[in-house]
Amino acid sequence: METALGHPEYGYYMRRDPLGEQGDFTTAPEISQIFGEIIGAWVLDIWQQMKTPNINLIECGPGRGTLMSDITRTFSKIEGAREAINTHMVETSPVLIQKQQQALKSTNAQWHNHINDIPNDKPTIIIANEFLDALPIEQLKRTSEGWMQKHIFLGEGNEALKEGWKPAPKALQNHLPSKTLSDKIYEIAPIRTDYTRQCAEIIKKNGGAALFIDYGYTKSHHGDTLQTVKNHEYSQLLNNIGQSDITAHVNFEATARAAENTGLETTQTISQGMFLNALGGGIRCNVLTKAAKSKEQALQIQSGYHRLTDTQEMGDLFKVLCFYEGAITPAGFFK
Ligand code: SAH
Repeated sequence: METALGHPEYGYYMRRDPLGEQGDFTTAPEISQIFGEIIGAWVLDIWQQMKTPNINLIECGPGRGTLMSDITRTFSKIEGAREAINTHMVETSPVLIQKQQQALKSTNAQWHNHINDIPNDKPTIIIANEFLDALPIEQLKRTSEGWMQKHIFLGEGNEALKEGWKPAPKALQNHLPSKTLSDKIYEIAPIRTDYTRQCAEIIKKNGGAALFIDYGYTKSHHGDTLQTVKNHEYSQLLNNIGQSDITAHVNFEATARAAENTGLETTQTISQGMFLNALGGGIRCNVLTKAAKSKEQALQIQSGYHRLTDTQEMGDLFKVLCFYEGAITPAGFFK
């Protein structure tokens, strides 16, 4: 999964802009500006709570830069915010870096390959939408021979990729539940857990908060959630390697635990619909609708917000988790 998505030459993300109608999938910030505006207000609130002259705002996996562009636009609402908030983009795709630079021309944004490349010396807010789902997972199952790990290999004659199972290394077994149903797939994601831990450590050291949004589940359970998408349709994992997006649902329980293990507080994981509605997304939608220049535009604004928040659309499947350093109260979550 890591090679298919991130290989410097052949990796899926390295050579294309995968987003939007012309691409393979669409994300929340591409659907409605309300998504980024609400997160912008959320960031401003945390910044004000921190009462500090200077902070870092980091986005991991920023796609086309649309989310950060909507976020930074809200900074004009509060005097001093633009100067105080240093924006950092963590991105590995040269194609997307170019798009992001275009979108953020008039900001102080800087680009980095990895979150640990950013000078780690200021209170920090980290944002990530549909980032963790792009980091690789492992699939395992417990058989009569013990834990087995799925692997992908070249078949005879090196002609076709195949799926198979081999005994799981001990290190992976440490991530697995002690009791499990036999023969059902169980997913773990040590690389995601590790990335989450590194984000949490930055916040633990300097103060701040992180907001992770993704599709996923709140309690660990069995199930095969690996999916491949091309041209907005599901496709076969082993076809079109490097040409289609591969993701898997995020285990928010494991994500929260990785943050808690560094000593941070975590909120409950709530649905995207709840989060946006709690922070006034519906009110913003009404304001934008009233200001629309045409009936079509008004309908587009409303259907976009509906798509983000309705339980039959993205409202329930997408989840929001915040981890933060004790002194802060992140808005939008229940106590
Ligand atoms: N957050 C964006 C894009 C989501 S797609 C949005 O909501 O529209 C996933 C993004 O993560 C892409 O920008 C991809 O290039 C980036 N990405 C994938 N693996 C990465 C890694 N290891 N480090 C940094 N960025 C990564």
